[in-house]
Amino acid sequence: MKKNIAIVGAGFSGAVIANQLAHAGYNVEIFEARDHIAGNCHSERDSETGVMVHVYGPHIFHTDNERAWEFVNRFAEFKPYVNRVKAITDNRVFTLPINLLTINQFFGKTFRPAEAQAFIQSLGDKTIENPQTFEEQALRFVGRELYEAFFKTYTMKQWGLHPSELPASILKRLPVRFNYDDNYFNHKYQGMPADGYTALVENVLKVPGITVHLGTRFDPASKTDYDHVFYSGPIDAWFKHVEGRLPYRTLDFEVFRDTGDYQGNAVINYCDDAKPYTRITEHKHFSPWEQHDRTVCYMEYSRQCEENDTPYYPIRQAREKAQLEKYVNLARNETNVTFVGRLGTYRYLDMDVTIHEALLTSDKFLEAAREKVRM
Ligand code: UDP
Repeated sequence: MKKNIAIVGAGFSGAVIANQLAHAGYNVEIFEARDHIAGNCHSERDSETGVMVHVYGPHIFHTDNERAWEFVNRFAEFKPYVNRVKAITDNRVFTLPINLLTINQFFGKTFRPAEAQAFIQSLGDKTIENPQTFEEQALRFVGRELYEAFFKTYTMKQWGLHPSELPASILKRLPVRFNYDDNYFNHKYQGMPADGYTALVENVLKVPGITVHLGTRFDPASKTDYDHVFYSGPIDAWFKHVEGRLPYRTLDFEVFRDTGDYQGNAVINYCDDAKPYTRITEHKHFSPWEQHDRTVCYMEYSRQCEENDTPYYPIRQAREKAQLEKYVNLARNETNVTFVGRLGTYRYLDMDVTIHEALLTSDKFLEAAREKVRM
């Protein structure tokens, strides 16, 4: 008899696991509370302008992981796309991540790479030996002026916390370069699915044996109807928040439309407090191979996630880590349920990591099932 699997959530985690298990002969039912698949990567055409929009904010696929890259390329045509971010601070425009042009323009210099490196090193606070917080990491590696111009206020707007309360890992996402390379990412592969992320996920789910229930919440009590459940919803919600709510940041978007080209680039960050939003995203620049006379932009605001909001970024301070540990212990004792993805494991995950982990989770599950048969 075919085994029945329930998957909660139709984002990348759920879709990848569904694909792998359905190919292995399982019956897979996916329960998605929202009325669309693809989770926060969901993209759709704006009804007024025809532009493909990243409904939950910008998602750029970038990876060094061969397996994740090979996987997504089986389900979508990827167009070359390089993310180049501009940043406005103190009424001036710079290029991010911090690179030789940023440094030379900011300090009014004409440094060559080695000179810029020596200069930035001289600005770094060498009394900080082992940076733990975002602020320490910034002060140690780029010095106070660049930290205050580009990171301090943006981070307070984004996280609602002072950078001294956030981990260094958040800043480590961004490279610092002593050449003129302004590619936002260091990865070998980077691109955009030609027809958007939702079409990609739709193709991942096109395997006989997968049924998707949209607009349907899964009740943890019905887990006994299945041989196994993969849960990519918020881990605390599975346990009815018995250890309290794990905090998230959520985003609000103020959408506006215009003709032509509004800002000349996909992403412009607003790094000081002249503006209340963190960034403006002009979506048509994410699909430079398409032609559109009109344009649609999202002004992005970050705030604390309340009960009925969409969770985006997990906030992992010491207090939340302890709270998460309690949920992880509960999860360990839960039988026939695997917690996956950004919400299921409460981590700030990029798409490629999510996909790779989902592939590994499926491998492990299938291998264990084969072992059982052999026994
Ligand atoms: N950041 C910043 N200024 C910027 C861009 C990023 O201070 O102009 C900080 C901010 O704290 C942010 C983190 O660096 O949360 C990581 O940036 P990334 O662009 O990776 O964030 P995402 O696109 O995932 O929101």
